[in-house]
Amino acid sequence: MDGLMMHRPLLQSGLLDFAAEGFPAAEIVSRRVEGDLHRQGWAATRARAVQLSLALEEMGVAPGDRVATLAWNGHRHLEIYHAVPAIGAVCHTINPRLSAEQMVFIAHHAGDRMLFVDLTFVPLLEALRERLPPMRYVVMTDAAHMPDRALDALCYEDLLAGRATDRTWPDFPETTASGLCYTSGTTGDPKGVLYSHRSNILHALATAAVLGPDLGPQPRILPVVPLFHVNAWGLPFTAPLIGASLIMPGPALDGASLWDLCEAEAVDSAWGVPTIWQGLMAEIQARGAKPRALRHIVVGGSAMPRSLTEAFERMGIDVNHAWGMTETSPLGSQGSLTPVQRALPFDQRMALKRAQGRRVFGVEMKIVDDAGQRQPHDGQAMGELFVRGNTVAAGYHDNADATTRAVDAEGWFGTGDIASISAEGVLTLRDRAKDLIKSGGEWISSIDVENLALTHPDVAQCAVIALPHPKWDERPLLVVKPRGDARPTLEDVCAVLRPHLASWQLPDDIVFVEEMPLTATGKISKLTLRERFADHVLP
Ligand code: ADP
Repeated sequence: MDGLMMHRPLLQSGLLDFAAEGFPAAEIVSRRVEGDLHRQGWAATRARAVQLSLALEEMGVAPGDRVATLAWNGHRHLEIYHAVPAIGAVCHTINPRLSAEQMVFIAHHAGDRMLFVDLTFVPLLEALRERLPPMRYVVMTDAAHMPDRALDALCYEDLLAGRATDRTWPDFPETTASGLCYTSGTTGDPKGVLYSHRSNILHALATAAVLGPDLGPQPRILPVVPLFHVNAWGLPFTAPLIGASLIMPGPALDGASLWDLCEAEAVDSAWGVPTIWQGLMAEIQARGAKPRALRHIVVGGSAMPRSLTEAFERMGIDVNHAWGMTETSPLGSQGSLTPVQRALPFDQRMALKRAQGRRVFGVEMKIVDDAGQRQPHDGQAMGELFVRGNTVAAGYHDNADATTRAVDAEGWFGTGDIASISAEGVLTLRDRAKDLIKSGGEWISSIDVENLALTHPDVAQCAVIALPHPKWDERPLLVVKPRGDARPTLEDVCAVLRPHLASWQLPDDIVFVEEMPLTATGKISKLTLRERFADHVLP
């Protein structure tokens, strides 16, 4: 027997309508590439998205067409995010930190027919355009700032000017594709994850349900995580649902710029990868104060170092350690504490925060051994994490081989992460499968060693990588970016590690780098480190 309730498609345009009606004045504040600070409410954002959607239709953008962006976090990018899917087209965010080859590959593979670029990326576009598929270009600025180069590009503000600011959005099935994001793929070609209206709305609802209480009413959120990295972790869709203001940082993501923006705009909650928080913490320490309103950060993308979590928590900033990936929309688990856990002593709370938290609604999890056998959720057994749910990719866009490799016989998606899950349902990531170190038939978790090494005062950043070893297969090398001029010896660092690790888990050697190489999504690139130190001879 069917239920007798209305069935309205879950469409992203409904989110924009909801915020425009219910929270018209909640702000989108953007530090623009033109150099100014721009403010507009959700009602104005909807009005401008309507104008853009009308312009797109006039230019012949049809349902299913891919419209790409190369842009920072700002209100125009947010408008594109809403206008493109609202007319049934697909918003394809390209990560400008990828290599030129990868960007060209992605634009062809996606079949992009339009590209919106921030002023910053005009030179990049000029360098790439010969190799891109034929398409229209739009520079996301006003007439006064249009580059006077022979780019043959349209001007964003001219496209919008003079158009109607209200419309009824079209209806279509909720399973329609709405967004496309390629994983940066450390090996092989990037793979496209194709979100649907339904998956993005369910993701926004699940995110609001678990993070909403900690964020509080109408929070002011700073997405440091870029709109070109998994939908800025869903914030364009969660923010209108909860009436949040978004404080968009543009290209300036260093500690000082973030500190100033948080302070000036009374940011409550900021979202980004650990390397960003390292920069902000250094700034907080240099200035001797945190930005006044900042009380919550969401961190994911790679494991948050325990020492960094503790430093934020000591100054009253609640750290929510989340896990996810491009293929999971991305939120898969998050670590907000229960009221009982919040009352625990500091050390016990910090031990909980080291883990990646409980799964969010809609994402089921299992861990399996090499033979595909399910492992118990006892906090001890480790295995590859598989996930399943309405916000998990069923496969990769136009890539049957990668899809077959990623999805198991029961339809679960293999994450490539090695994890354990406790009886209370708490996920702990032990490593990426490719980063685990195989020493004499035993596994060494690089995350565990890094977390401990970072408690040494002279270690600013570190990474543990595997080097081949004739006897043990692989042995760990500790790569350190030192704090200041100090150069701790291997023995100095091992003295910190020894009480917590078995002797065979200790690194065999230590090397120093001036800067840690980062991936296109701002994580420490172990691939680059493995290449750089491939010839390093262990003692
Ligand atoms: P990319 O590899 O392009 O950075 P993603 O952004 O999709 O792609 O990264 C997903 C991966 O990031 C996960 O599979 C996991 O290895 C890692 N990751 C994400 N969040 C965490 C976390 N909180 N702790 C440890 N690793 C994480």
